[in-house]
Amino acid sequence: MFDYLFLGTGASVPSRDRALPCVAVRRGADIILFDCGEGSQRQLMVSRFSFMKIRGIFVTHLHGDHFYGLPGLLQTMGMSGRTDPLLVCGPEGFSEALRSCLEVCEGEIGYPLEMRDVGPGDRVGVAGMTVEVFATEHGIASQGYVLRDGPARKIDTAKAESLGIKGDDFRRLENGEEVNGVRMEDICLPPVPGSSVAYTGDTKKCQSVIDAVRGVDVLIHESTYLTSEESNAEAHNHSTAKQAAEVADEAGVGTLVLIHVSNRYKDLKPVLEEASAVFPNTVVPRDFEFYVTVKGGIRSA
Ligand SMILES: [Zn+2]
Ligand SMILES: [Zn+2]
Repeated sequence: MFDYLFLGTGASVPSRDRALPCVAVRRGADIILFDCGEGSQRQLMVSRFSFMKIRGIFVTHLHGDHFYGLPGLLQTMGMSGRTDPLLVCGPEGFSEALRSCLEVCEGEIGYPLEMRDVGPGDRVGVAGMTVEVFATEHGIASQGYVLRDGPARKIDTAKAESLGIKGDDFRRLENGEEVNGVRMEDICLPPVPGSSVAYTGDTKKCQSVIDAVRGVDVLIHESTYLTSEESNAEAHNHSTAKQAAEVADEAGVGTLVLIHVSNRYKDLKPVLEEASAVFPNTVVPRDFEFYVTVKGGIRSA
């Protein structure tokens, strides 16, 4: 089950109220970060999440509002004594851009940092979870991600007992060993599907997003404009709140979360109203709002 911390919900330029895109999804102690706009490390420092617990960072595209915060965050982790490995992924050109930035600035990292270019169709394993990459449409190389918790596995204790499995046998089975011809899958109930969250980054409404996010528990979609600015959304390859809600509706997701809201909208109520008219189960968080998973969706905590 995931927790969600919305560290940056603004678009393009930061404002007094909203920082640039950065969303932390946590499972247990492990944190996955989506996008890392300028100032994200400071947002993390004043939040309840420790940046030392980040296991993977996934950047959607190389526009500055989604990327400029990454070199600084990586460097601060090193200066804070991080020794745990970290995986950072982004679209084509990401690794080269990040590497040259760190080299030019002589950024000391000091922990195992794996930089990887990934693209639509790729699957990446991180901290026991899976990240699927899907195509978005934003005028440059851009992509979104679906994060899936592994399926929850439960042991059928009656069956284990009937097969003579006891005590230390369970540990051996967990380690992949066979015990008297019995394997772990022989004593497990059918897996319960795990949680799933999709993060689009910047995109206009497109079929590749609808296909990729079908049925996810939570869809975090950009919502730069309202319908009154639809021509602007079209011109800049962004979405309106209504279009994001249509994606959520057509894909049959559980909850829609709107971020990347233009600074021209100081009041978020019209954004929520426009989306809710199409997809009622919508939330529009402010910076630092924290959501937990509850039965039937997520709730602010
Ligand atoms: Zn953006
Ligand atoms: Zn962009």
